[in-house]
Amino acid sequence: MLSFIRSDLAQLIAYTPHPGGTIDSPRGKPAQIDRVDTNESPYDLPAALKEKLAWTYQQEIETNRYPDGSHAPLKQAIAEYVNESAQLASSPIAATHISLGNGSDELIRSLLIATCLGGEGSVLVAHPTFSMYGILAQTLGIPVVEVGRNETNFEIDIPAAQAAIANTQNPPVRVVFVVHPNSPTANALSPAELNWIRSLPPNILVVIDEAYFEFSQTSVVSELLQHPNWVIMRTFSKAFRLAALRVGYAIAHPELTATLEKVRLPYNLPAFSQTAASVAIAHRHELNSAIPEILSERDRLLERLQPLQKFRLWPSAANFIYLRPNLQDKGAIGPMLTRITEELKAQGTLIRHTGGGLRITVGTPEENQRTLSRLQEFNFGD
Ligand SMILES: *Cc1c(COP(=O)(O)O)cnc(C)c1O
Repeated sequence: MLSFIRSDLAQLIAYTPHPGGTIDSPRGKPAQIDRVDTNESPYDLPAALKEKLAWTYQQEIETNRYPDGSHAPLKQAIAEYVNESAQLASSPIAATHISLGNGSDELIRSLLIATCLGGEGSVLVAHPTFSMYGILAQTLGIPVVEVGRNETNFEIDIPAAQAAIANTQNPPVRVVFVVHPNSPTANALSPAELNWIRSLPPNILVVIDEAYFEFSQTSVVSELLQHPNWVIMRTFSKAFRLAALRVGYAIAHPELTATLEKVRLPYNLPAFSQTAASVAIAHRHELNSAIPEILSERDRLLERLQPLQKFRLWPSAANFIYLRPNLQDKGAIGPMLTRITEELKAQGTLIRHTGGGLRITVGTPEENQRTLSRLQEFNFGD
């Protein structure tokens, strides 16, 4: 290892969106690859919107100039969208409550830099959850405290979380990450979890990641301004179909957004990404019109998998489902998950093996039908 590299980074494993490398099965390459492992929308932008964006790129964007580093028009549009989406008649959310990141991933890192860096804090997460919180904390040398979840409904183990907060010193817990609804388990925050985050003291930042808001329609934004220690994160990568362009936003107290602005790179959002996000908001009704189909396809997937008995399923408040093989021998679950993931991959369905289960994105009806048949046909015996 090169001796100038921080020793703690040697142990760190980089995030891999499609673990397991290329698809190369003894049966040859599948004709069709269904990417139902990363929770994006299965639908690209409509052709007319792409043309509009291409036109903007040709006519309006000067590629020799730096992009707008203030993000002012986009922040304004997002603030209006947030008020509208939460049916907040008094329009309490303003552009000063918004900060933009190169994906929510950048915002997670900026939040960590703004709160915990330099030995000032640890972060708390409840496993299984979105892996980026832990990965980004580790890259910054920030300790990660993990607690578990209730296996029947994936509610956070609140007594364990309280104990971890009480017992973690040097440095104390400064940030708690929750996801609403959680990935990979697809459950929205329960009343008990909501009460718990309301009860956390003002010296702990609560990050509420609402990446799947457009699917779940659950949000804590109406309570945000009562809690200066809360920040909500959202993204254009899921329902808004812009994962390729990397735009996420945070909604928070103006003092926190001002700090995020200090910490981010000055030109973190390319001009084209800013334009695309503005166009997506302007056409939100058209883009969101795909959501009812995705939700009914999700319910159909769950209904068809239910009678199989071989899988344990959980309800979903998002555009993906989570399942585990129903096996008596708990030690056999891990190897079985690997087998199922490999077998589906060989057939052309990419799913994600994570958190001791399988996370499967709801795709197009055709993709879902293939996912379903392949899971139905999967043979647990050998
Ligand atoms: C997909 C996802 C995001 C989005 O990240 P981007 O960097 O905005 O693409 C954030 N949080 C969770 C929990 C997610 O699943």
